[in-house]
Amino acid sequence: MMNALEQYDPQIYELIRQEQARQSGAIRLIPSENYVSRAVMLASGGCLTNKYAEGYPGHRYYEGQQVTDLIEKIAQDRAKKLFKADHANVQPYSGSVANMAAYAALVEPGGTIMGMSLADGGHLTHGGKVSFTSKFFKSVSYRVNPEAGRIDFDHVRDLAKQHRPKLIISGATAYPREIDFKIFGEIAQEVGAYHISDIAHIAGLVVAGIHKSPVPYADVVSTTTHKTLRGPRGGMLLCKDEHAKKVDRAVFPGLQGGPHMHTMTAIAVAMAEADTPEFVAYAEQVVKNAKALAEKLLEYGFNLVSGGTDNHLILIDLRNKNIPGKKLAKALDRARIVTNYNSIPNDPSPPANPSGLRIGTPAITTRGMKEEQAREIAKLINKVTENIDNESVIEAVGKEALLLCSQFPVPDHFIKNSNGR
Ligand SMILES: *Cc1c(COP(=O)(O)O)cnc(C)c1O
Repeated sequence: MMNALEQYDPQIYELIRQEQARQSGAIRLIPSENYVSRAVMLASGGCLTNKYAEGYPGHRYYEGQQVTDLIEKIAQDRAKKLFKADHANVQPYSGSVANMAAYAALVEPGGTIMGMSLADGGHLTHGGKVSFTSKFFKSVSYRVNPEAGRIDFDHVRDLAKQHRPKLIISGATAYPREIDFKIFGEIAQEVGAYHISDIAHIAGLVVAGIHKSPVPYADVVSTTTHKTLRGPRGGMLLCKDEHAKKVDRAVFPGLQGGPHMHTMTAIAVAMAEADTPEFVAYAEQVVKNAKALAEKLLEYGFNLVSGGTDNHLILIDLRNKNIPGKKLAKALDRARIVTNYNSIPNDPSPPANPSGLRIGTPAITTRGMKEEQAREIAKLINKVTENIDNESVIEAVGKEALLLCSQFPVPDHFIKNSNGR
């Protein structure tokens, strides 16, 4: 395929090649990113991109669905098995659209939804001010406890009783601790709200059994497929049978047209990969690596929101280092360590230039790195932090990062016959 591209469009071919080199020559710590397998890559780049399949298996609005119906049913069945859910919708284009569909399925426009505030680690689509979710719905946000950096369930309950939302969203995008979905379910029940759980970040940890699944406690579970789950970019909704029709109709024809069949095909492959002991070992290592990285950062005097991590991500509070998140993220990028600057709870600085840095371990774990390398990475992060205005040190760190990358090449893996890498 790449040969054809090289001949037809050398300019784009060259840019893809450059991006490939960047991904293999950098320590990628953005917690929502990963490396997919060659099998997933092949499926998502295949001929299914040519097919329109509006509707659902057996009820399509175009002919020629002999194969697509089979693929979608396999994807649904694998999702149901993996997440132990009654019903799965594998059509959402992304996590954001999946959330919008879940809200639209359960709440009338203008109804009240309640999620974690963006500033405290919630996702934009949990009712963030600039998101359409706060324009189509009335949005109420719960905060985390500013000292502990953790969800305060008394506060969540009080707010729910005060505002009586139609919908409570659990789940987050920058929260380093395990979330008790059962309590969220109980609070939702107490106020007569639906409970939607958004596990976009931690889906891989949930299917591996490392974090408790929200499926028993939520009306609808929303996820992306490309973060810790390690599939192609996409979204998915899981729900109890009673909500299946409403959820399906909200996705199509409510919000979307034809599903991206090539993505759905690759999602099916990714879910087969996730249903293996190798995947469980990867997910366990993701958490071990994050804990090792966190521990070492604490030794270097970094403050971590909530004091550490239970999952794949770490939120560093940089205020005691007197370096803005953006400045450190940019310096680290020059040293081949790719992160993102991020707000911390109760951040005194604005979101465009916040006080935090968010890092995570899924991608380095997929490369086969273990605790030793995680600690080495903490050392490199500290070196850049301590020499933030010294370009020659930053350049030297970049060389060390490149060496580490060369020892852990991006695996060209088919999970089934992988050698453990
Ligand atoms: C990443 C994320 C999303 C959105 O996913 P996209 O595929 O980027 O639209 C939604 N919710 C949470 C919690 C996320 O972390």
